[in-house]
Amino acid sequence: LMGLTRRLIEIRTMLLSVDRGDSLKLPSIVVIGSQSSGKSSVLEAIVGHEFLPKGTNMVTRRPIELTLVHTPAVPGNQKPQEYGEFPSLGLGKFSDFKQIQRTLTDLNLAVPASDCVSNEPIDLRIYSPNVPDLTLIDLPGYIQIPSMDQPETLKEQIATLCDRYIQEPNLILAVCAADVDLANSPALRASRKVDPLGMRTIGVITKMDLVPPEAGAQILTGNRYPLHLGYVGVVCKQSGKKSSNNETAGQLVKRAESDYFASHKDYFGKSSSLMVGTSTLQNRLMTVLESSMASSLHGLTNGVQLELEDATYQFKVKYNDRRITAESYVAETMDTLKARFRDYTSQFSRPELRARLKEILNNKVMEIMEQIYFSDARVRELSALAADPKVKPENVEPYWHYKLEAATSLLTKSGIGRDTTLRVVDGLRALIDTIISGEPFTHHPRAAERLVAFGHSILRDRIGVTSDQVENCIKPYKYEIEVDDREWELGRTKSADVVEKEIIEEKEKEKRARKFSMPAGDAPPESEEEVHYRFSPAQMIDAKHALLYSDRVNILRLRLSTLKSKRCKGGRTNDILCPEAFLDVVADKLAYTSAMFINIELLEHFFYEFPRQIDSRLNYNQDRQEVVAFARENPIVREHLELQERKDKLEEIMKKLNSLTSLRTDIQPSSRRS
Ligand code: GDP
Repeated sequence: LMGLTRRLIEIRTMLLSVDRGDSLKLPSIVVIGSQSSGKSSVLEAIVGHEFLPKGTNMVTRRPIELTLVHTPAVPGNQKPQEYGEFPSLGLGKFSDFKQIQRTLTDLNLAVPASDCVSNEPIDLRIYSPNVPDLTLIDLPGYIQIPSMDQPETLKEQIATLCDRYIQEPNLILAVCAADVDLANSPALRASRKVDPLGMRTIGVITKMDLVPPEAGAQILTGNRYPLHLGYVGVVCKQSGKKSSNNETAGQLVKRAESDYFASHKDYFGKSSSLMVGTSTLQNRLMTVLESSMASSLHGLTNGVQLELEDATYQFKVKYNDRRITAESYVAETMDTLKARFRDYTSQFSRPELRARLKEILNNKVMEIMEQIYFSDARVRELSALAADPKVKPENVEPYWHYKLEAATSLLTKSGIGRDTTLRVVDGLRALIDTIISGEPFTHHPRAAERLVAFGHSILRDRIGVTSDQVENCIKPYKYEIEVDDREWELGRTKSADVVEKEIIEEKEKEKRARKFSMPAGDAPPESEEEVHYRFSPAQMIDAKHALLYSDRVNILRLRLSTLKSKRCKGGRTNDILCPEAFLDVVADKLAYTSAMFINIELLEHFFYEFPRQIDSRLNYNQDRQEVVAFARENPIVREHLELQERKDKLEEIMKKLNSLTSLRTDIQPSSRRS
């Protein structure tokens, strides 16, 4: 059955990663003993190195799950490969045991002194040709009386922690010092509570050198407190002497031990059939652990089988056996992102963009009309002039020439480049916000944040260049605007549309203001006095606005009829009398030019750069750990991955268990024969 323990230890580690719960368990050896009973010394003797935290204060504050892995010595290689590692910390291999000791001390000290002990185990593996395959759990030593700075409850806390670990199927290594009456051993007392017949407890009697050999031998017979697995006596005293012939500290301790037992052959020799020495202890532990593990095998196999069936069933029902990987999820998400991006870019096609810019400029034109014409008391004269067929445009008084010049220049010189660029940038920012809103990005706030950050940074870099470029290219219109007949006619009809829309809007505003100032059904006031006591100041203001809006509607109606008149249909020569038509033509030219350059300088750049930066800046295609972390941010994916991993692990464990059981059935008949 060579290597059974080793393979079972492997399985045990895998089981721990599948469930930290209690259902699937292989036995381990739990080491308990009171403080100063020599517990650390025994463990160090088994490992052959000093590696446990030392100090006057209680230093083992967390359970240490110690897995020893026997590595065969490489022939011809003088220095055997010995090292330890903390698998869950990812610190790499430690070949210096002093460093392991420091790390353990740090991990212990990380437990707040107020808590004193923690249930969170430290996972430590040691690989060496000098250790057997074993799993041991070192627990804080039992204390009798807490020292001044330790809380009252400490004694209980430690006892509770130990009680948790000494449950079945674990084996108990009860460490007692030879110079202390066994009746007073807290380790034996605790073990007897859970294992009254002593079926899974091994006694270790330390400090054999401190009592007369006959007394020591008497203890080892186990007559007073019989244990089925027996007692092993050891001497694990650090001598403090410098070794003479290149001996390691570990070898020195062992030699001192064998010297001691050799010098009392009468009591401890082969004929005594007592178990003494660290090597005997090592072998005893191996045998006991192996047979204990082997007997757990059947039950464990059944347990794993059940868990596996359950996981397989759930995987089928929940996911129809569909397998996913973190990588495929990340790739899918990135594709979704880019596809959404592509979908939205169609909103920014040239005609689409031109129409949007024109809309912005239409508003601008109406603002300018308001400022230059509609708020001018003489505005009605302009329509009258237009309606008079005798009036020739060149004879219209200069006042109206200046007005048109002022309006045109307001339009061309109002910073159109910056305005339009910023409006398009706003649109792109909204686009970024849209593509990261909704599933699955709600689960990835950090990625979304990064996306926004680099999206904005691309935009920021282009704003200056683009608005300058647009401004530069519309410069000619600031001096000279050519309009042909077709353009004029188009401008005229479109501006009429704009005015018509404006009329509808103003009427709506008027209606609202009226409703607030005088609710429907109320009789109109009959005197000025009545106005004052019936209406609040707010109502008065609304009433005033209503009047203003209705006045504006009248002006707009007049302008609309002018725009639809024969005069305005007569072409560009009438631009003084039909400023809306002319300004519309100018706005159209500005929109066309702006769209062209915004497209080149901003959009093309952004649409090229953004998808590339999704790949390079989100960078989820390199670091496996990051990929997994990203995928797990999505709870649906995390659940899927977890069940899948659980099922995979259980399958692998099952395979290993099956190969072990078949191995055992091969072996059992032959061993029965012998
Ligand atoms: P722990 O508190 O149970 O871990 O006990 P330690 O292993 O730290 O040992 C407590 C003290 O007993 C230390 O000073 C050890 O040097 C000493 N000690 C341990 N084993 C032996 C032994 O076999 N013989 C003698 N004489 N002293 C020992």
